[in-house]
Amino acid sequence: MRIDLHTHSTASDGTDTPEELIRNASATGLDVVALTDHDTVGGHAKAVKALREGLERPLTLVTGAELSCRLNGISLHMLAYLFDPQEPELFRERELVRDDRVPRAKAIVEKLRQRGVPVNWDQVARIAGDGAVGRPHIATALMEKGLVGSIGEAFTPEWIGPGGPAYVEKHELDPFEAIRLVKHAGGVTVFAHPAAVKRGVTVSDDIIAELAARGLDGIEVDHMDHDAPTRARMRTIAAELGLLPTGSSDYHGSRKTCRLGEHTTDPEVYEEIVSRATGAAPLSSAAGRV
Ligand code: AMP
Ligand code: FE
Ligand code: FE
Ligand code: ZN
Repeated sequence: MRIDLHTHSTASDGTDTPEELIRNASATGLDVVALTDHDTVGGHAKAVKALREGLERPLTLVTGAELSCRLNGISLHMLAYLFDPQEPELFRERELVRDDRVPRAKAIVEKLRQRGVPVNWDQVARIAGDGAVGRPHIATALMEKGLVGSIGEAFTPEWIGPGGPAYVEKHELDPFEAIRLVKHAGGVTVFAHPAAVKRGVTVSDDIIAELAARGLDGIEVDHMDHDAPTRARMRTIAAELGLLPTGSSDYHGSRKTCRLGEHTTDPEVYEEIVSRATGAAPLSSAAGRV
């Protein structure tokens, strides 16, 4: 079983449409894929449609989202799986975070423009389409203009990285509140890339312990932004705190270098996530192509 529990589509900052993501996941040999766009479930319906149309290889879809959170000024990402997308409290919070992405992205563009950088909102809006707009779309705009050579280069303080003059915060959830809301909606939470230092400041191990005490289900251990010693340390922390250790690609299509299934989750861990969820069940593809 090959299980990838963290991917993005054009519903946020990935470049595959949800349909393409489903077909690519099947074609690449995955058995289970979770669609976890930033702060939105906007890609779920299209992903389900692609699943229902039938695939060469059977595939199971885990519906989810990656919720933007902040604690003591530190950004963190909370993966939420198999929650009820209609549950009103979590629905509202997702909307608040997602909606604030627009004025925030406009503010970043304005700050760049004030510094003489020739990007504009129309360009960023075109790149984001109907996806939840984020810094990767602005990074793509900078690349289109030939100002940076890669998406990664845009995430330095000189451009739109944290701590830089063009960085603007967005409304984000308190992670303890996120855990409560997701549970209330019948879902399961996994702290995404908890030690990804290249993205900015990360939380202490004590905070991970506090999150665990408040109902966090798991932490992402195997992730491209964790080096080998970090993965070993995260695996130990997970074992000590009784957290489920997951592995996933954090696939963003062509916006990142990682491939679907680059890291995977153990079947037993996956089964435990599914058994804890009451908000939704995984969905399986039709038996074959019709
Ligand atoms: P935002 O939510 O708009 O602040 O953008 C955060 C997203 O930017 C993350 O989900 C990643 O997809 C991407 N990102 C963050 N840091 C980096 C980095 N150092 N290199 C490439 N992409 C990054
Ligand atoms: Fe992203
Ligand atoms: Fe993330
Ligand atoms: Zn992600």
